[in-house]
Amino acid sequence: MQVYIIGAGPGDPKLLTLRGAELIASCPVVLYTGSLVPRQVLAHARPDAKVLDSSGMTLEEIVSVIVAARDADQDVARVHTGDPLIFGSTAEQMRRLHELGIDYQIVPGVSSFTAAAAVLGRELTLPELSQTIIITRAEGRTPMPELEKLADLGRHRATLALFLSITLLEEVARSLVPSYGADCPVAVVHKATWPEQQIVQGTLADIREKVRAAGIRSQSMVLIGHVLTAENFANSRLYDPDFSHRFRARVGAAGKGGSRRVD
Ligand code: SAH
Repeated sequence: MQVYIIGAGPGDPKLLTLRGAELIASCPVVLYTGSLVPRQVLAHARPDAKVLDSSGMTLEEIVSVIVAARDADQDVARVHTGDPLIFGSTAEQMRRLHELGIDYQIVPGVSSFTAAAAVLGRELTLPELSQTIIITRAEGRTPMPELEKLADLGRHRATLALFLSITLLEEVARSLVPSYGADCPVAVVHKATWPEQQIVQGTLADIREKVRAAGIRSQSMVLIGHVLTAENFANSRLYDPDFSHRFRARVGAAGKGGSRRVD
């Protein structure tokens, strides 16, 4: 008996991995995390599968569903939104499974932060502008570790992907304006890749008002950084004719001699 912890992807059912689909189709018990897992992903389940929404359950209730499946020697597909290892609350489940001696495997998924970048058509890392993405959240009811306050993270001026923060945009702007500037671009993507997807773009100064006007209050990715609008960024070395790397010789270079490696 196994528990498969599966990333369902951000919404579009075609963004579920082939492995995830295969496992959902084979497990007699499918336990999914509520409204952010699309019904079409669950439609892979066998007609006789027990398909349960965990959103109203406590950790112990989730564990007892899994223990009952173990006792019946039935595999469980534990389906989480996006990637299961980013803000997934999966670690506490894995800890309980480990204590109970129940085997589990993890199948990664497309996280909503990359899905949001994809629908915006923007790369999140650009040469010389931002080579770092900070995946974090604003401080709401869940306290942030002392060294991870948004204002402190902001000092890096890296690209930010904020989960679980759409209702905290005032605090986000207050924390980040000192380092990024009030005109720093912000994009909010509500339900990225779902049919009801909405995109709101603005700056740290006006995004809160624009999001309020659009009526968005939940299920949104907030991307922040100059990469969102930059046009005059440098080209990467990867396709630069003056550089060679493991897979390509420098254009005009006769053999290895004059080439510089960038890998
Ligand atoms: N493990 C998930 C995140 C779960 S936490 C992942 O990798 O994406 C839930 C938060 O994720 C939401 O509050 C929202 O910030 C973000 N989120 C999840 N799905 C989303 C989607 N389709 N579009 C935008 N944001 C999404």
